[in-house]
Amino acid sequence: MNEKHMRTRLVHAGENELAKKIASSVSVPKVLPIYMSSVFSFDDVPSLDAVYAGDASGYVYSRMTNPSTDAVEEILAAAEGADGALVFASGMAAIVTSIIANVKSGDHVVSSPVLYGGVYDYFKHELPRFGVEVTFVDFEDMDALKAAIRPNTKVVYTETISNPLMEVLNLPEIAKVAHAHGCKFIVDNTFATPAVAQPLKMGADIVVYSTTKYLGGHSDLIGGAILSNAENINEMHRYFTLYGAIMGPFEAWLLARSLRTLDLRMKQHSENALKVAQFLEKHPKVERVYYPGLDSSPYKALTKEMFVEGRCGGMLSADIVNGEAGASTLIKECSTIKFVPSLAGVSTTISYPAKTSHRAYSPEDMKAAGISMGQLRFSIGLEEADDIIAELEKALEKV
Ligand code: PLP
Repeated sequence: MNEKHMRTRLVHAGENELAKKIASSVSVPKVLPIYMSSVFSFDDVPSLDAVYAGDASGYVYSRMTNPSTDAVEEILAAAEGADGALVFASGMAAIVTSIIANVKSGDHVVSSPVLYGGVYDYFKHELPRFGVEVTFVDFEDMDALKAAIRPNTKVVYTETISNPLMEVLNLPEIAKVAHAHGCKFIVDNTFATPAVAQPLKMGADIVVYSTTKYLGGHSDLIGGAILSNAENINEMHRYFTLYGAIMGPFEAWLLARSLRTLDLRMKQHSENALKVAQFLEKHPKVERVYYPGLDSSPYKALTKEMFVEGRCGGMLSADIVNGEAGASTLIKECSTIKFVPSLAGVSTTISYPAKTSHRAYSPEDMKAAGISMGQLRFSIGLEEADDIIAELEKALEKV
């Protein structure tokens, strides 16, 4: 009897044949499947050589590319009209890769000072360990920006809408300055998303995202992305592979599903956030509201030039009276609005920058950046705006 043992049959039955049968089917899945395969098999050596040479399409190893990550990269690139995209295991992995690919020991980076705390920590404490110096300068002051750039400056870095003060920077102007000095201009567009602003069209060379936030949008995945031209993507793909930073196939599938509704979600987040900002602005227990869509915002005119009409995203911050005591009471008195140190899900949440995302700032740096102990950051969700406002009104009574 020639038949193999059951254990062997279980290991091999249907292996390559099944995948080839599916690939040659005349029908295709309506939704892309999740390719949970760490590696791909070849019938012979010439097939592998052809894939490495770029003469045949195929996958080798999922730390380099995987059909699920490829698919979501295509959707992301299409959203912003980029040549290409790379998806990462986290926003930090995407940001660090975008920097590592563009600096070496002895180089210099110029960054705006109001940043996501993790990126600030990386710039302030980690990059110097590798001989890369970072200068923080107010990007609203073009002369200060020009003065900060040195012959060895390679990267100019900022966020489209800053975290947590919701400042909007003039990206086309900053891009001009960066390019005049031969620097790459990298923009974190996490708070805006391509449904609000598209920095590549305003002169950015590389756009980075924490896809954990709006692009994922449902608080169920950690991920990051980079969008850029073909040359930059090829260069960054080398570091992406070397540092093992790729997003997993399941997260890629979740992200692809979420991106289908990004535009609709951002429209609703923006409409709700404007209504909540207008309510908070008039409330006696609120000292100041930071939302670029408010008529009173110093950034309103800039949003009209740079953002999709009527949209400023779902993020806003507010200074609550009585400092830490006021902020803590508001958090405690909310019911459906949870205290969550992240953002951009379907439900409205509150975060406390001084205690969470910006904990890495020293008290002096925090003060200089305009972050106070009474400041809360709101991620306005997709509920009815009236319900969000009613809950905040009730909680503010107790402050
Ligand atoms: N950029 C911004 C603006 C963020 O808010 C965050 C996280 O909160 C990051 C980057 C880092 O992303 P991740 O947590 O996915 O690594």
